[in-house]
Amino acid sequence: MKYQIACIPGDGIGPEIIEEAKKVLNKIGEKFGHEFIYTELLMGGVSIDKYGEPLTKETLEAARKSDAVLLGAVGGRVGEDSWYKLPPHLRPEAGLLAIRKGLSLFANLRPAYLYPELKNACPLKESIAEQGFDMIVVRELTGGLYFGKRETKEIDGVMTAVDTLTYNENEIRRIVKKAFDIAMKRRKKVTSVDKANVLDSSRLWRKIAAEVAEEYPEVELSDMLVDNCAMQLVKDPAQFDVILTENMFGDILSDEASMVTGSIGMLASASLSEGKFGLYEPSHGAAPDIAGQNIANPIATILSAAMMLRYSFDLDREADAVEQAVAQVLKDGIRTVDIMSQDISQRRMTQVTCSEMGDSICDRL
Ligand code: NAD
Repeated sequence: MKYQIACIPGDGIGPEIIEEAKKVLNKIGEKFGHEFIYTELLMGGVSIDKYGEPLTKETLEAARKSDAVLLGAVGGRVGEDSWYKLPPHLRPEAGLLAIRKGLSLFANLRPAYLYPELKNACPLKESIAEQGFDMIVVRELTGGLYFGKRETKEIDGVMTAVDTLTYNENEIRRIVKKAFDIAMKRRKKVTSVDKANVLDSSRLWRKIAAEVAEEYPEVELSDMLVDNCAMQLVKDPAQFDVILTENMFGDILSDEASMVTGSIGMLASASLSEGKFGLYEPSHGAAPDIAGQNIANPIATILSAAMMLRYSFDLDREADAVEQAVAQVLKDGIRTVDIMSQDISQRRMTQVTCSEMGDSICDRL
């Protein structure tokens, strides 16, 4: 099969980590008989330098025409680089918001997996880290409190601010279905997180989740209040498979879930729209402090490419192969500098560069 990938390296370490993800995809292509065709696009600071804006209409259009988008990261040294002298809507990060909106990406996926070799980086108690965890947070991305009507005005002489949290049943149904589809590719367990003891929007959320669950008899659905979920994530993260939630709860919980892994260079993410289209990117930023040194950890981007194989191209076997190769590299003691100190075993580790990490993963495919 042929797949058209819009490739947006962006700024900072973006080009270095994207190069390694492409290397791994090409190896997968060779091994499994697929062809990945890349269209290189500019976004962020590099697009400002060339076109005067972080995302041009042409770039957005080219991204839209592809089967999926693979993104590195955008941005520079905030406050230092000349990009930050521009008005906010012309800064590198404005490109991120514009592409997410322009591609109608309504489902954000953030996996949190604790590699046995990197347990030392987990900030939780040893007895909890010992159990390991493997979950994915599915967050609604285009509705709820962040997109509702808001205003600040004086009422009876008192300054009053109002934010509105609105969800309609269609918005809820489409994200719930995404979460169930994802659960079907995993351990078939969805925890739907809400605040149904207080919020109407959560009560509707719960009702729709229960309706959708009937279409997926193999998937187990449970509801959990958001305050309890925040506690359970640090008390017993192993219980979770797919955590499904609305925009603001997901914003907070996805950061909490990823931070308990402790390794920023390992965290993949995806944002999906209707159908199979999606944008895949590491959870970290452009890391300008280490850009151009060939020392960045490319694994988050490589794992994001694996998510692309799984969720946009339905190539589950190929995605499994990438994830297993990453796990094997870690087992073999190969580390970029950021994860070098995270292994407490007495084994000798081999420190590698960004490109050597890409090569090492390819060797194990
Ligand atoms: P960051 O994630 O870029 O870096 C935080 C720290 O983690 C730095 O010390 C960095 O060296 C390290 N780090 C990050 N990724 C790494 C990797 N793959 N390997 C090894 N070390 C890694 O966050 P920041 O410093 O807050 O932001 C830097 C720039 O990136 C800013 O301009 C910010 O706006 C932008 N940013 C972009 C995105 C995005 O493109 N999605 C996300 C977050 C931040």
